Amino acid sequence: MTDTLIKVDLSKSPTENENIHNRWHPDIPMACWVNPGDDFILETFDWTGGFIKNNDSADDVRDIDLTTVHYLSGPVGVKGAEPGDLLVVDLLDIGAKPDSLWGFNGFFSKKNGGGFLTEHFPEAQKSIWDFKGMFTSSRHIPGVNFAGLIHPGLIGCLPDRKMLDLWNEREQQLINTDPTAGLANPPSPGTAHMGKMTGEARAKAAAEGARTVPPREHGGNCDIKDLSRGAKVFFPVYVDGAGLSVGDLHFSQGDGEITFCGAIEMAGWVHMKVTLIKGGMAKYGIKNPIFKPSVITPHYNDYLIFEGISVDEAGKQYYLDVNVAYRQACLNAIEYLKKFGYSGAQAYSILGTAPVQGHISGVVDVPNACATLWLPTQIFDFDINPNASGPIKHIDGKIAMPLSHDLK
Ligand code: ZN
Repeated sequence: MTDTLIKVDLSKSPTENENIHNRWHPDIPMACWVNPGDDFILETFDWTGGFIKNNDSADDVRDIDLTTVHYLSGPVGVKGAEPGDLLVVDLLDIGAKPDSLWGFNGFFSKKNGGGFLTEHFPEAQKSIWDFKGMFTSSRHIPGVNFAGLIHPGLIGCLPDRKMLDLWNEREQQLINTDPTAGLANPPSPGTAHMGKMTGEARAKAAAEGARTVPPREHGGNCDIKDLSRGAKVFFPVYVDGAGLSVGDLHFSQGDGEITFCGAIEMAGWVHMKVTLIKGGMAKYGIKNPIFKPSVITPHYNDYLIFEGISVDEAGKQYYLDVNVAYRQACLNAIEYLKKFGYSGAQAYSILGTAPVQGHISGVVDVPNACATLWLPTQIFDFDINPNASGPIKHIDGKIAMPLSHDLK
């Protein structure tokens, strides 16, 4: 029987669990050790550590303290792993915990986190998604039902001292260019949870521990939907033992995780196996992780594809800006879905949660980049294709996503 090396109790705070941490730092002690070739299970909290509840209010999304995230399970030490190796992680299976067969998606208030389309959706909203086996649907968003493409939003190995310093230095330089704009998140010791660390060493590490928000060289918060159960990932190793941590599990997500709070976020477990390629970083010229996709993915083979170019909704021309182009593709898809009766918020939430593909289609045709958003048509209960008789309002508007106004 496969051992569950890290267990979480969802009725308790993640800060009471010393096998959980929410910062990256080389001195965080290993939660446990395994041998190359071992397979094992790690349970995880959802990324907010249970702050977001299964209810019909978005007050929790509005009020969350975002310096608390992400709660990760680990680090797992792998015997014999040394800096320069590649840690090969087979994601053998991933699932929800039986006592928590639901997940959440939402948009943060523009005043607290925001999101990709925060100018259009400035206040907190939430949708709850229920899991029935491998499928999910939401009481807040009628008309859609789809298979999960379950993946960890966040997985990676501990940085070494040099890499930690590099991260903090370059991100602080960016923050300094416009200190109030929220360009990056500096260390935030007040809400740091440093695993087993105690005393002065803990205080020092908390003051410099890197936030878990961005993806970095080690992987981290990449939010790649295709890094799903069945995938094989090759991670750079920076410290003795590698220090593998995982969390932020998603039942499903559209490319870009555009809603930011976030995909369909869930607590759960990851069954994985680890092996090593000694000296693999130099042998293969690896700086960032590489991975092989799963042999099993939801089979949606029909899409309605929305184009976007790097001219924003106010008509401003940008130079080959893929971010602007993808935003336009998303806004175009939302406008389209509204014709079937969805609110803009419901349409936005579908794009953040369903197995939507995002593609960078062109980056050389000055001045416009072109991005495309691929909306799978088979996730809908009705035909969303355009035709001569025009769209039918299948969604009657009685079901809405909870919205919480900003406090004055
Ligand atoms: Zn997430």
